[in-house]
Amino acid sequence: MAKERLEDLAAFGGLPAFAEPLHVGRPNVGDRKRFLERVEGMLDRRWFTNNGPLVIELEEKVASYLNVKHCILACNATIALQMTIRALGWKGEVIVPSFTFVATAHALAWQEVTPVFCDVNPRTHNIDPAEIERLITPKTTGIIGVHVWGRPCDVDSIGRIAERHDLSVIYDAAHAFACERANRKIGGFGNAEVFSFHATKFFNTFEGGAITTNSDALAERLRLIRNFGFVDADTVKALGINGKMSEVSAAMGLTLLEGLDQLLGTNQTNYEAYRRGLTGIPGLSLMEFEAENLNNRQYIVVEVDADAYGCDRDRLVEILHQENVRARRYFYPACHRMEPYVSRDPVPRRPLPATEHLTASLMTLPTGTAVGPNEIQTICRILRLARAGRHSLGNAPG
Ligand SMILES: *Cc1c(COP(=O)(O)O)cnc(C)c1O
Repeated sequence: MAKERLEDLAAFGGLPAFAEPLHVGRPNVGDRKRFLERVEGMLDRRWFTNNGPLVIELEEKVASYLNVKHCILACNATIALQMTIRALGWKGEVIVPSFTFVATAHALAWQEVTPVFCDVNPRTHNIDPAEIERLITPKTTGIIGVHVWGRPCDVDSIGRIAERHDLSVIYDAAHAFACERANRKIGGFGNAEVFSFHATKFFNTFEGGAITTNSDALAERLRLIRNFGFVDADTVKALGINGKMSEVSAAMGLTLLEGLDQLLGTNQTNYEAYRRGLTGIPGLSLMEFEAENLNNRQYIVVEVDADAYGCDRDRLVEILHQENVRARRYFYPACHRMEPYVSRDPVPRRPLPATEHLTASLMTLPTGTAVGPNEIQTICRILRLARAGRHSLGNAPG
């Protein structure tokens, strides 16, 4: 990492702007007292896992919150994706965006299914339905759409393509808890949707995830698979895995669920503060969301136009890191440029220009309960000062 700091950042007294690192995806904690009460109850019951009362309560509450028939909680979203891929009987090839977290592709590859990487729409950052059609072959068995940044995929077009070619659809909704598409919560689209409740996500259970579906048959199969294939204490009816969520995780989920509106409010306030702070900085654009699709605003996504801004995204991320703002390049690199995919297919089946562009120009900035308006003002001030052409780079001590 380059050592030089911006001269004008001497305004911060020669020290980084923040004494402690501000991370993207710092966990939301929720009401400690309520959480600890639930943990006390769990310890008293000595019931830590295997479909305990907290897991059952959280499954009911999540299903009802998302207005979907079934919620199957899991130990994480990656295993939840794999269980769903198995339950749908996918084999051969599945079409998936390259612009996603690598777990989406890995879940397929781990199940011996070939991920076929598809480009995204440069405006929405979601899988491009027209490109999906061009990638379908006789080996194709399914499509995974990722609701990137919690913005809903074009579920109507994807649904029509799936029907035409007799494919099933999973949505990776890891980013999309509490997000809506035209007043309908994400959770009931496709054959199933998979949420991540990882610590960095909007809604977390330390580690965890959920599969939501309106299909009774799929839900039953998933419950069987999640618990080694056991139907009762001594009978195993299928190849299964251990995909269970523990009670302590469910205790966290139940607690955060009670404070969801507050979390949504915090993220909304932060987003507005970023919008004000970034206004009028040439070359930086804050990702906007359609008014009709409620978004949890867990991701503050900024696109850096290197020419207009005066330095590229990577250099800007370095500058931010020197000020202890741990901005992230997202998703970087794209899946098709990671192993094992890049060695198997050095050239993707079709070019991925939008993916290449986005992975080179996007960064995410810290939000959530860990930052407030003052921090955001300072971050935006750094972004203003760092704009090259107006401020020279100098060597800072240390
Ligand atoms: C976080 C994430 C996952 C993986 O979730 P885990 O719960 O950590 O396994 C999958 N897909 C996307 C898009 C993610 O952001």
